[in-house]
Amino acid sequence: MIPPARTWRILNLDMGVNEPERVLRERAATAAGVDLERVRGCRIARRSVDARVRGKSRRLRFIVHVDLVVDADYSGVRFDAAVRSGKIVEAPQPGSFLVANPTRGTGRVVVVGSGPAGLYAALVLSLNGVAVDVIDRGAELKERGRDVVRFHRTRTPNPESNLLFGEGGAGTYSDGKLYTRVDDPLEVPCLEELVACGAPPDILFDSRAHIGTDRLHKILPVLRGRMEARGVRFHWNTRLDGLVMDSCNTDDGASVRRVRAVRTSQGEMPCDALWLALGHSARDTVRLLHEQGLQVAAKPFQLGVRIEHPQELITRGRYGDGPDAARLGPASYSLICKAEGKIPASYSFCMCPGGTIVGSINTPGLLCTNGMSNSSHSSPWANAALVTTFGPAEYGAGPFAGVAFQEELERRFFEAGGADYTAPAQGADDFLAGRSTPKPRHSSYTLGTVPGRIDSLLPPLARKAIMRALLEYEHHIPGFRSAAGLLVGLESRSSGPVRMPRDRETALADGFANVYPMGEGAGQAGGIMSAAIDGARCALAYLQRSRRPA
Ligand SMILES: Cc1cc2nc3c(=O)[nH]c(=O)nc-3n(C[C@H](O)[C@H](O)[C@H](O)COP(=O)(O)OP(=O)(O)OC[C@H]3O[C@@H](n4cnc5c(N)ncnc54)[C@H](O)[C@@H]3O)c2cc1C
Repeated sequence: MIPPARTWRILNLDMGVNEPERVLRERAATAAGVDLERVRGCRIARRSVDARVRGKSRRLRFIVHVDLVVDADYSGVRFDAAVRSGKIVEAPQPGSFLVANPTRGTGRVVVVGSGPAGLYAALVLSLNGVAVDVIDRGAELKERGRDVVRFHRTRTPNPESNLLFGEGGAGTYSDGKLYTRVDDPLEVPCLEELVACGAPPDILFDSRAHIGTDRLHKILPVLRGRMEARGVRFHWNTRLDGLVMDSCNTDDGASVRRVRAVRTSQGEMPCDALWLALGHSARDTVRLLHEQGLQVAAKPFQLGVRIEHPQELITRGRYGDGPDAARLGPASYSLICKAEGKIPASYSFCMCPGGTIVGSINTPGLLCTNGMSNSSHSSPWANAALVTTFGPAEYGAGPFAGVAFQEELERRFFEAGGADYTAPAQGADDFLAGRSTPKPRHSSYTLGTVPGRIDSLLPPLARKAIMRALLEYEHHIPGFRSAAGLLVGLESRSSGPVRMPRDRETALADGFANVYPMGEGAGQAGGIMSAAIDGARCALAYLQRSRRPA
């Protein structure tokens, strides 16, 4: 019989950027005080680049956490001391998508939205034997691609199928960054599912893991196929238009609404439970659901611009000119500028190395930018959002005050760009000096740019926060605030402006017996991974509630 094993995480090992991974087995065993021949398994748990300058020099290296599998009763003087010192810790247990003894209801449940939150909720439900219908107002991947191309040719957006709506949700045309600030055991099965669908295995440990639009477009149909094989039915071009409800009493006697069916643009669909994974841009649907009793509250959201530099400037600033820099490929950055006095904090967000600025547009007459890139990060441009946070104190009271504020600014930028989705652009140096850039340098923005006074188009608070950030970031990346930096706007949908309150434990929407709001549109996530994790978590909450006694 194989003796039971235990997995230990060896933290912060040093690894040269030229070294092969196999050196880690011995290095981890030595650091942990484990005899090499007693190691039963070894794998990288996390790998990040350390590009800090120490003294006057910079030595690029990886910082690596390694998981070592050893006999559960392993002991030794050096090993015991390493455990006591905290240099090694027990590896966290990964979460699971499976629930013991889930109820297999006879009816079907409906998931609205095929973004990461909706897909992972549907996946987890189907893995546990629940019959699921996924509806999405947008088109299936190929048709959606044609709609996006048509928009770029005609400059007439299709409000139902575009860069934000359709198979895979808002992240389908993205950098496919998979890192998140949440540290959740469900991250492991979420990533493993992507690997099973064809994603590279290093996403399981790379601290800057990304997939890229090209690979996402291969992975999504595989994921869809695996889910269809489990009985999930996808309904494209099918918009949620309303709820058919009755009421019931909770265990403690409170009367709550219960959804019996959903009204869609393709007809009525019966439903035993409903998951809402609408994303941050389905403003019409959120208003409609609010009118039908769904609680909605305003929440702070990020606002600012995209900033674009030559990738080479960023890579040199981050990694220097040494020979190792080339091995690491195009560099990314993540920078913060703290609040000072009345000027709020700001930060870079959603950085796309070797990427393209895109118009994430679903509503005619409104302009909003974002960034995407392919897996090779091969474009000569690097872009990122440069944003600050706006809350009800800045934009006023009422659940939809933030939405109205976003819309007003998005219209302002649309008009300043010439009312055809061309974006206003301004050099970083001119933004600081408060003057126009007569001929903005080339930008990767797919719909073109015109000279624009972004400094006066933005609300004053955002202008001041971004000015401070440009000056601050120059210390980290020389040239950041120069004419080589181009500001393109508006970036208004890095996160959603509303939240849908839900119970912490059951994930049920306040006042409903069977509605689960989730993902970015519910203010419960921000980014691909956190939305996916939230979707999986809401599905598990439902399954655990409806478990059969063992
Ligand atoms: C261009 C771009 C690049 C991005 N890059 C990254 C990145 O690299 N990494 C990262 O972590 N995040 C990135 N993001 C953010 C990320 O995509 C979102 O945080 C994430 O997709 C949110 O997931 P979600 O499932 O909550 O909602 P979404 O992905 O927005 O999905 C919502 C879905 O609901 C559907 N829907 C809406 N209303 C209805 C209705 N009434 N009826 C039926 N269906 C409806 C929509 O069609 C859509 O498909 C990017 C976003 C954009 C726009």
